Amino acid sequence: MEERKYYDPAQQRSATGDMDSEAFRLYGHQVVDWIADYLTHVGEYPVLARTAPGDIRHALPDKPPVQPESMETILADFESVLLPGITHWNSPGFLAYFSITGSGPGILGEMLSGALNVNAMLWRTSPAATELEQVTLDWLRQMLGLPHPLFGVINDTASSGTLYALAAARETLPLHIRHQGMAGREDVPRLRYYASHEAHSSVEKAGIVLGVGQSGLRKIGVDGEFRMDVGQLEQAIQEDFAAGWRPFAVVATVGTTSTTSVDPVPQIADICERYGLWLHVDGAYGGSAAVDSTMRWVLAGCERADTLIVNPHKWLFTPIDCSVFYTRKPDVVKAAFSLVPEYLRNTEGSGEEVPNLMDYGTSLGRRFRSLKLWMIMKYFGQEGLAARIREHTRLGQLFARWVDESADFERMAPTPFSTVCFRAHPYGMDDEARLEVLNEQIMNSVNEHGRFFLSHTKLHGKFTLRVAVGNLRTTEKDIQDFWGEMQTCLKDMSLRRNEI
Ligand code: PLP
Repeated sequence: MEERKYYDPAQQRSATGDMDSEAFRLYGHQVVDWIADYLTHVGEYPVLARTAPGDIRHALPDKPPVQPESMETILADFESVLLPGITHWNSPGFLAYFSITGSGPGILGEMLSGALNVNAMLWRTSPAATELEQVTLDWLRQMLGLPHPLFGVINDTASSGTLYALAAARETLPLHIRHQGMAGREDVPRLRYYASHEAHSSVEKAGIVLGVGQSGLRKIGVDGEFRMDVGQLEQAIQEDFAAGWRPFAVVATVGTTSTTSVDPVPQIADICERYGLWLHVDGAYGGSAAVDSTMRWVLAGCERADTLIVNPHKWLFTPIDCSVFYTRKPDVVKAAFSLVPEYLRNTEGSGEEVPNLMDYGTSLGRRFRSLKLWMIMKYFGQEGLAARIREHTRLGQLFARWVDESADFERMAPTPFSTVCFRAHPYGMDDEARLEVLNEQIMNSVNEHGRFFLSHTKLHGKFTLRVAVGNLRTTEKDIQDFWGEMQTCLKDMSLRRNEI
């Protein structure tokens, strides 16, 4: 980081004990300049960190600092020691997992939130944070085309939200589990909930935490397009009731992690209503697409969900972390979680108008996450957000078309959004084991090269590459270059075909 002016470390701490405001101004400007330069040149770094496991740890002292260090030293360490160990999620070449963006307004929102440092556990501990969260999530509800009323809170991750949803679902059973637990009770049947084989692992993890167990989740098969098979779902529920299990919830996914398939939520909602089960929809990735009115179909049926998750930190350009949890039944969620010790008791913030947001999950402390989301929504506007989602989808579909038109590559799943599942499949090479080796080698070679970062999944047991477009800096030129790199890699591998 460029050193603008020498600052004596002894001068940096004011009478408050904190960094004095002039030092803050100086280093704050340096940091903002660094961020602006970083974001301009982020595509020039190798996307995937080049360090080996333990490199960063060994480069850092194993003893804590005893004496104060200057900000010059701290910022220099950040750049020389930590930066090489960063995988650049904000790079245009990041095409792995779900590609995301920490956008400019979002980063500024994070900075302000750090400065205010409020803990929005109770309404009174920051009325603006609580009320802005309510307003921002109602704006988002409208942008997504979801009906009023819908109560929303922001959690760190979708994994937490799904846990809370299933805890609330469990609370609807007349078993008083919140109070009496489940262990050692003969009056509690084995509990069951359902999700497809394509659902995210957080759905299964929730069962572990809730004491329902991994076997409490019954995984349902999918159709040819990786969507939950509703016939199998209904049959499984009937079988489980007959066998003495107590089914209590179904988790549908809008935008599954591997293929971004969209489960048939309206039919799943019918089944949930028929059997009295809680419907939770994990729209962590795909839900955001509905800000584009032409993509509203993705949330069809979600107005009937008891709980729904949409992650602005996945595809609404919001810096991690920001996961929106919506519910039509805030009273049930609150009944599952609210526990108010004396020191937090107060007369405000008990209703839905001005809730105490600590009542809707396990965390007491809550960051002011709505600030960055609010700034992003205002800065881009619904039209701006929709245009960016449309562009990512266009790039994904373009890449999918190139794959379809190529004799050497094939698509492995439909592409409803901006994520493409595909693999190299050269003419005449049909042995699955060899294809797996070939595609893994291509992926490793791309990742070693450094301009792009690619990840994989397995579909029907077949090693599958995934390209996810979701970063605001990714352009058509990047996708073209990536496609060119795939062809080159395949050619190189073909020359070494005997090794495969
Ligand atoms: N749900 C889906 C569909 C996902 O793809 C993911 C992560 O990629 C998650 C949930 C977990 O998200 P989080 O990191 O917010 O817990």
